[in-house]
Amino acid sequence: MGLYSFITKDVVAENESKRVIVVLRVLYLIMQVVFLLQVIVAGPDLIKGFPVRVLGLVLMNAGFFAYTYFCRTRPALVLFISYIFMWIFWMMPVMGWRAGFQNGFIIVLVLVFFAGHSALFEKLAICGAILAIRIFSTIYFTGVEPRVPLSDVCSTIIQIVNITGVYIAIVFISYTFSKTENDAEIKLMKYNDKLKLEANTDQLTGLFNRRRALEYLESITTGGEVSAISIAMGDIDFFKKVNDTYGHDAGDEVLKNVAQIMRDSSRSTSFISRWGGEEFLIVFPECNGDHAFIALERLRRTIQNQATTVGGQEISVTMTFGLAEYDFNKDIDSAIKEADEKLYQGKTSGRNRVVY
Ligand code: GH3
Ligand code: MG
Ligand code: MG
Repeated sequence: MGLYSFITKDVVAENESKRVIVVLRVLYLIMQVVFLLQVIVAGPDLIKGFPVRVLGLVLMNAGFFAYTYFCRTRPALVLFISYIFMWIFWMMPVMGWRAGFQNGFIIVLVLVFFAGHSALFEKLAICGAILAIRIFSTIYFTGVEPRVPLSDVCSTIIQIVNITGVYIAIVFISYTFSKTENDAEIKLMKYNDKLKLEANTDQLTGLFNRRRALEYLESITTGGEVSAISIAMGDIDFFKKVNDTYGHDAGDEVLKNVAQIMRDSSRSTSFISRWGGEEFLIVFPECNGDHAFIALERLRRTIQNQATTVGGQEISVTMTFGLAEYDFNKDIDSAIKEADEKLYQGKTSGRNRVVY
């Protein structure tokens, strides 16, 4: 088993977050390395003078580390915090104030906030208590000289080791917890985009739906950036007959194919939507009626010529379009209504045509 899988081995309780336990295991390893380095720098006098404290801390670290494989999150957290307190209060009087063991309080502070699952007031209370202990240790231990003979250089090295260890621990805690938050946020944003897309899209054809079409029309008519807008309403001719002859599923295939032809043969700026049933609304921004008419005539012919093949059978349909140019002095509904009326004229005058 590699170190990684050893550290990330699952926790006892299935419903608990694995993250906190894994973070604690890494922190134990960091602290053990930090402590052993300090013992080495302090030299044999430390072990000879304070064997219980030195051995006690090493064993406590190893024991509590091992216990994370058998206990739940909360006791593991409490044990780690106790270990840090022992580390500070056993070593501070021995190695002196300058050695910088008091920095360890910050690990506890950050851990309580990130890893703790208690309510905010409880977290704040714990942080208040830590602050009080920190102030107490400042009053009580400032200027305390090491009880083991430590040269200035050794004191400074121990302080550097302490600060580095604490920094690494804090960076690690912050990274781990903020990473998961960020990942969750990114996931949520992607999910939001997906929902938005689904809310705007017609499932069968993949075109925009009526809701999105109205939103789009609202945005281009109020934006004031477009100088001309043409609107076309198109409807497949005798579509009921297609369903009656070939079945509803074949009708669906025809709808999909017609939608694809519309997409393929339109300019990328054209906005194509399924208005409902076998009716489609096309918006041509920056396009006057004459130009839109030419584009629609081309589209109408393509639809007429490109049959849909379903189950070996070729189904040909035609389409009728009503076209209106948007009058900026009127509302958009009147342009839609006009396109609808022209469509109706096209239907009554023989179908398969563009009426403008
Ligand atoms: P017209 O030329 O006058 O437009 O005749 P039409 O038969 O196309 O018009 P009508 O409005 O009588 O019929 C439209 C048909 O479109 C009726 C409906 O069952 C069918 N339809 C609407 N939505 C769908 C769909 O999503 N899938 C399928 N297969 N058929 C649909
Ligand atoms: Mg129809
Ligand atoms: Mg219809």
